[in-house]
This record gives sequence, structure tokens and C-alpha cells, in this order.
Amino acid sequence: MRGTTPRREQGMADPVLASMVHAMGLESAPHYSAAKPGIQAYRNRWAELAKFRDGPVNPQRIEGNDPAGMARQIKAKAMELGADLVGICRLQPHMIDLGKDVPHEFAIAACVAEDYEKVLLGADAVEEEAMRVYAKCAEIATDLAAHIRSCGYPARAHHNGGREVQAIPIFYQVGFGELGRHGSLIHEKYGSSFRPGIVTTDLPLAEDRPREFGVQDFCLNCNVCRLNCPGDAIPDDYVRTHGIKRWLIDLEKCYPYSRLREEYCHLCVDVCPYNVKSHPDTFRAFLKQRKKVGYKTPQSR
Ligand code: SF4
Ligand code: SF4
Repeated sequence: MRGTTPRREQGMADPVLASMVHAMGLESAPHYSAAKPGIQAYRNRWAELAKFRDGPVNPQRIEGNDPAGMARQIKAKAMELGADLVGICRLQPHMIDLGKDVPHEFAIAACVAEDYEKVLLGADAVEEEAMRVYAKCAEIATDLAAHIRSCGYPARAHHNGGREVQAIPIFYQVGFGELGRHGSLIHEKYGSSFRPGIVTTDLPLAEDRPREFGVQDFCLNCNVCRLNCPGDAIPDDYVRTHGIKRWLIDLEKCYPYSRLREEYCHLCVDVCPYNVKSHPDTFRAFLKQRKKVGYKTPQSR
């Protein structure tokens, strides 16, 4: 199946970022050049897993005539490998990068939650936690794909080390939640504090369904991320694509805070009530810290 959605490039492959970096007379974005050794080690981990994304399929295929039972087994396997959230959907062209061919019928999203408590240790600790989780997701997706191939079905892992699919439309379709105003998908338990590993496969699996639980209506009146974004990059108004409401982040306003300086910026997610609600004491302590160093602090209209 060939993809129809243009991929948002990352790093210096992103034309908006590249032109801003070059306008500063630099070769690379300060945020990336200043990567600490711990962060670099996680990046190396997913890069080394890239060669194991796909592989030979066991010619002895197990029975695949119980998609519901098989879905339960695959979810249990993903959890055993360390996932906190697992969902399954039928792969559709808009979930695949424009022009890329993914010859599979199903997508399995196996996600790991981040530790919100890291906000108290500063922006670098929040970023290191994100990279740790990305690396863990790469390991889970690699092992889950290998497990499915050992059952006699083609399977490919998609993660930061290499991917042809897009996480957000898959997250939506498997029922993880709805897109928030800050541009990330919001889950009712984990907020936006989770990262993806994805496996595509032909193993017949029962599908999950999209689930809405009022996030987008809440965002209409919340605005905490918008009011606290240091770059004023989060819009008031939304657009609709594929019938889904989305708020588009202004990258030229976001990048001066999230890419063009050394410190990470994750503030829009760190202040979101869906992220904060299970960590009220940590959030209060986090606000005090930020106020002391002169940041805007969460407020609503
Ligand atoms: S902070 Fe509020 S407006 Fe922003 S994404 Fe979270 S719930 Fe929506
Ligand atoms: S990462 Fe920072 S600058 Fe970018 S949208 Fe979020 S809060 Fe704003």
C-alpha cells in the first residue's frame, strides 16, 4: 500500500529549521549540536536497531483464523516487552509517508509512557527521558516484529531509526485519544507523555476503534498550553484535515525555543492538564521552579 501523507522531516532535513539555522550562520541547530552523551547514547541505540527492522519470515506459519485471540496475544506480548499502551488498526494510505510502499494490512502501536516527575530535574532531564523512551520503543517494536515473523507472518518495525508510517493517524485510529491544541495526541491516562514504536504486519488481528472523550471540546476553553508557550506558537483557531480538527503549531515561532537554543522546550505538554492531573504535587513544585527563573506560569482564561 502506497502512502499519501507528506512526512514532516526532522532535524536539519526540515526545510523550515534548516533555513532558520542557516540564517544564523550555523551548520546545525544548537539544540542538536549540544546533545549530552546520555542523549546521544539513546540516539545511537535506535540507529543500531535500524538493520533489524525487517527480516526473514518463518516458513512454518501458525494458524491465523482467530483475529481476536491473536490480537490479545500480541498485546500481551507487547506489554511483556515493556509497552504501557497497545492498539491495533487496519493500515490506511494516509498513515503512510507519501510515496512509500508498506505491503502490510495492519499496524500495531506499542507505546511507552514517560516519567512526568523528570520535570523537576530540568529541561535536559525531560529530554533525556523522552530519548530513553524512544529507544525503549525501538527495542519493543524490533522484538515484536521479530516475534511475529517467527510465527510465520511478515512484520516490520517502525521507530526513530527508520520508519515509513506516521504515528498520529495510527494513534487516533487505534483509540489512544484525540489531538490536543498543542499538536500532540492526548490519552486519557497518559496525556501526551508517551512515545511510539509501531509494527506493520499481515498477521490477521482484530482492530481497535477511535475513541473520543471530550479532549477537543476541553481544549476550546482551556488554552493553558497556548497562554504559556514562550514563543506564542500555538494558535487560537483550528483547521480540519481528513475530517479531524487540528491546531497547527507555527514552527517559525516554536523553533527559537525548541531547536535554536540548547535547552529543550516541552512546556506545552508539561503544563497540559491531561499530563498534570495524576501528578498534582510535582506540578505545583514545577510551577514554583519555573516562576523563580522567570518563565510564564500556567494560567487559563
Ligand atoms: S493545555 Fe489545554 S488547550 Fe492545551 S492541549 Fe492541553 S487541554 Fe488542550
Ligand atoms: S515546544 Fe515550547 S515553543 Fe514549541 S509550541 Fe511547545 S511550548 Fe511553544
